[in-house]
Amino acid sequence: MKPAPFRYHRPSTLDEAVRCMAELDDARPLAGGQSLMAMMNFRYVTPQHVVDLNRIPELAGIETTADGAIRIGAMTRQRDVKDSPLLRERCPLLAEALQWVGHVQTRNRGTLGGSLAHLDPAAELPGVLHALDAVLEVRGPDGARDVPMSEWTLAYMTPALEPGELLTAVRLHPWPPGHGHGFHELARRHGDFALAGAAALVHLEAGVVSRAAIALVGVDDGPLRLPAAEALLTGHAPDPQRIAAAADAAVEVPGIDDVHASAAYRRKIAVVMTRRALTDAAARASSVVPASVGPASLPRGERRIAPPPSPAGGSVSG
Ligand code: FAD
Repeated sequence: MKPAPFRYHRPSTLDEAVRCMAELDDARPLAGGQSLMAMMNFRYVTPQHVVDLNRIPELAGIETTADGAIRIGAMTRQRDVKDSPLLRERCPLLAEALQWVGHVQTRNRGTLGGSLAHLDPAAELPGVLHALDAVLEVRGPDGARDVPMSEWTLAYMTPALEPGELLTAVRLHPWPPGHGHGFHELARRHGDFALAGAAALVHLEAGVVSRAAIALVGVDDGPLRLPAAEALLTGHAPDPQRIAAAADAAVEVPGIDDVHASAAYRRKIAVVMTRRALTDAAARASSVVPASVGPASLPRGERRIAPPPSPAGGSVSG
């Protein structure tokens, strides 16, 4: 298939891109093209205008801000986010989750902003940024504004972008040094979108959880936090019983019924992935070697394909 006819625009500054998006009817921004081009080729979307963001230097890059946040430009390639020494040190959850986003080839072109704007319900990056309470910077004809990640998903694949607005950057405040992180997902094949996945962060003080964050992907229109589970952990030692009780809270999520899995199956997977992600996060927070996820904890009938070498943690492909 080939896309319907469209006019191509290639602004070289953000101001020019914003002007393009404001003046053109039916325009779509092009980032890495890893989702948009496929959707255009299948004619799921037939924009009259495509505004290419790839030649706007100010939209890419990773920097620390005066208040200690880390700011990542929307056009920063997923590969660069994954390989960033600063992010690996201050926010290792991102690097861990990114190894399950598509393939090396798609990460070389795909961008952070594209993944957030595309907002596939099973996309890992929106889930991780939800766990991190990230803030998204948006720019449009009416100026600039910030959108908390908690308000980003309006509906299925519908981010909180007004007509003509562009996502320009993401800001996140890394957790204190010594926090633990974990990310686990179940996908039918490595590189597929997850059936369900869980991102977890845990901070301990004197062996007791002082802060926890859990975000699920693949179980609702957008990423979901589990506040009840987070509260259950806070103030207690993260022993296996407490972690299992917190993970059981994932069974309350809506789940998604589609050709790949039923909502009930996704809910079951979400519980298992949450338990694994929390186990890794708690082990790392107390800086012991991450608890390995033994075969015993795999749902019956599931194969385990060793994931590629990763900082730690991992995913299970059925
Ligand atoms: P594009 O495809 O260029 O754009 C995506 C959408 O966002 C378009 O509607 C576009 O108009 C809009 N957009 C882009 N940038 C902006 C912006 N700055 N402001 C406003 N709107 C914008 N993703 C996963 O999360 N997990 C996976 O496992 C996964 N597996 C994949 C496997 C394959 C084989 C492929 C091809 C893709 C896979 N993806 C996966 C998707 C991939 O991560 C894409 O990179 C991502 O979904 C979109 O990023 P992009 O930069 O390519 O955006």
